Amino acid sequence: TEELMLKSEKLSVLGELAAGVAHEIRNPLTSLKGFTKLLTDADDVIRLEYLRIMESELNRINDIVGELMLVAKPQAVSFEYTNMQELIYSVVRLLETQAIMRNIQIWVNISDNIPLVYGVENQLKQLFINLLKNAIESMDKDGEIHIKIGTRNDSVLLELKDQGCGIPAERLKTLGEPFYTTKEKGTGLGLMVCFKIIEEHGGAIQFSSVENEGTKVEIELPTAPSSSK
Ligand code: ADP
Ligand code: MG
Repeated sequence: TEELMLKSEKLSVLGELAAGVAHEIRNPLTSLKGFTKLLTDADDVIRLEYLRIMESELNRINDIVGELMLVAKPQAVSFEYTNMQELIYSVVRLLETQAIMRNIQIWVNISDNIPLVYGVENQLKQLFINLLKNAIESMDKDGEIHIKIGTRNDSVLLELKDQGCGIPAERLKTLGEPFYTTKEKGTGLGLMVCFKIIEEHGGAIQFSSVENEGTKVEIELPTAPSSSK
């Protein structure tokens, strides 16, 4: 019965998610449909304006689908021993230009002798991209982001601290719920994907935050296959 319960729980979560996705994608689709009609009669100047709006609606659908790919259809997942130091550096390089454009400095502090993490490399990368993006997007003026890699018990500990807008206490508890976003162009799916990746790795994630001061994310990742699998 335990297995059955789990399965039905999963199904209802899936149903909720599907409803959410359908809703979120239908809005930009409806708008695209409308503008396609309008295009026919529009003069050149207005047509350009319409095309710009249509492009941004298409981007929105693209973002939503992109974030869901990872949860929707797990690609060939292969667990391997992964060097977090290299992985973090590659993600920082990836998002560096975004940070520089906002005058944000990213500091990375790595302790000696960090063990390898037992995990799926592109998922761990996705996890870290989503978190670092949120950190960057949370800061509307210049400041610093501090990343630390260390150990805690038998796990590798990643710490990510920003000096952004922070998260209200009542929201901290519900982070990871799909489609919660405070951003005009947000999907509200990034953290859901993070939680899912952490869960699949048998890791842990914890947020602490002070409004208008910043947010700290701590992540523990295992260094060996979990015994329960
Ligand atoms: P999105 O980034 O598309 O909004 P996420 O799931 O990544 O979706 O994040 C959901 C929401 O959680 C964000 O819109 C924001 O309100 C809040 N949030 C996440 N990370 C941070 C952070 N580092 N600082 C402040 N708010 C955050
Ligand atoms: Mg995000």
